Amino acid sequence: MSKSTVIVGAGIAGLTLAERLTTAGENNHVTIIERNSTPGGLAGTFKKDDFLFDIGPHRFHTSDHTVEEYLLDILGDEHIAIKRASRVYMEGKYKYWPLTLGAVRSLPFPVLFRSFLDLFRRSKDDSIHNFADFIIAKYGRNLYHFFFSGYTRKFTGMDSESLHVDWAAAGVNRAVIDRKVKADNLLSLFKGLLLPKPAATVFYYPSTGGIQTFCDMQIARIRENGGEVRFSSTAAGIVTSEGRVTGVKLSNGEVIPADKVFWSAPISILYPESGFRFMNTLVCNIALSKRQQNTYQWCYFGQEDVIFSRLTVPRNFRQDTVPDGCDSLIAEITVPIDSELWRNPDSCRDKLLSDLEKVSALNRADIIFLDWQRIPATYPLYDLEYRNRLSKFELPEGLELLGRCGSFWYNNMDHSIGQSLAIAAGESFEKDFWKT
Ligand SMILES: Cc1cc2nc3c(=O)[nH]c(=O)nc-3n(C[C@H](O)[C@H](O)[C@H](O)COP(=O)(O)OP(=O)(O)OC[C@H]3O[C@@H](n4cnc5c(N)ncnc54)[C@H](O)[C@@H]3O)c2cc1C
Repeated sequence: MSKSTVIVGAGIAGLTLAERLTTAGENNHVTIIERNSTPGGLAGTFKKDDFLFDIGPHRFHTSDHTVEEYLLDILGDEHIAIKRASRVYMEGKYKYWPLTLGAVRSLPFPVLFRSFLDLFRRSKDDSIHNFADFIIAKYGRNLYHFFFSGYTRKFTGMDSESLHVDWAAAGVNRAVIDRKVKADNLLSLFKGLLLPKPAATVFYYPSTGGIQTFCDMQIARIRENGGEVRFSSTAAGIVTSEGRVTGVKLSNGEVIPADKVFWSAPISILYPESGFRFMNTLVCNIALSKRQQNTYQWCYFGQEDVIFSRLTVPRNFRQDTVPDGCDSLIAEITVPIDSELWRNPDSCRDKLLSDLEKVSALNRADIIFLDWQRIPATYPLYDLEYRNRLSKFELPEGLELLGRCGSFWYNNMDHSIGQSLAIAAGESFEKDFWKT
């Protein structure tokens, strides 16, 4: 490893790499540059008046033993294992997600019957060109229309025909999460429904604070090991000479010399002309003075007339994320960064509250406070050209792209950790969209 390493971004990917490099002790100096004043990036936690809010639902789940070992090494005893309790809101009712037989039985009979017939009308693989084709081939035209097309348009702002098939593979895996739950096509979905009980997925969560506790613990180790973390410092780009990276330029004009740079901030900052686009999320954190009746940890909302796409209930991750007797909710709305709503989120406050009441998620009279957060670059947007765009790059020597936004990878925390562990160990790493 090189003498002077700069890592841009103190999210899970950047922190894992910094922690591993400084623990190995082979570097002269490792510096992390982070735009925010706190670590964690998308895995950050906001605290206000004893209420803790992660950015939507954030839980650790992995089937990779190396990643799990690393997780538990960092968290030590400070973790709990929780059974997943997720839902999907359909036809005015909360249903178990991944779907159970009982939940599916309660779907409108015509949808169920037509979906069953779709089992015998599968499309050929060579007719798959985009997200819509992929989902129709896997799940049939009826489930595509019933579940996927509206949710996708609402979530991405794009039609399913304009999205790359990778969006489907990554998105469906991310939503289902557990390999034990076979839901990767219509047949396995129907087979899964015949199981007596849905597979009980267990995930890890810190036993104190929010998900950011993990990152705080990484920061402590990095500092103990002599690494430097510079918060509230924004990287504007890299500096190169004769095809080699020589430093990172900050937005205040300062240049930090480096012979190795790992970049986990959005790739679009490095290559603004390249056309990479991200989705952005407005997160509404709501503190409530009384317990509401929500029994799930998180729930998906597909219908286009409901403004949010997912709700999270922090109390169902860990009771002490809210003060005694209180409750809270996190609502996510994805929006373009140049939209009026992004500039002025509170303009949809009334619509948000009436939608929350419509789905029986809260009683307006119990609200203590309602805070908006603008989280940029939450999801890489996989349009039909994105793979071509990625393959066109020739990076300068000494620069490596990292993590969700740096490598333009619709991933989870465990994937960012796995990627950084592999890089630190000098092993090759393949971004894999098809497995969790
Ligand atoms: C709503 C939501 C829910 C999720 N739920 C889960 C879940 O339950 N389980 C799971 O495993 N994963 C989940 N994920 C995914 C998970 O958050 C990411 O995979 C992971 O946090 C990515 O880490 P990263 O370090 O690769 O990227 P990031 O967290 O994006 O880190 C990049 C860092 O770079 C910083 N940065 C950006 N620009 C600059 C700049 N110019 N200069 C300096 N620094 C900069 C950012 O502030 C950030 O700290 C979820 C994601 C979202 C959006």
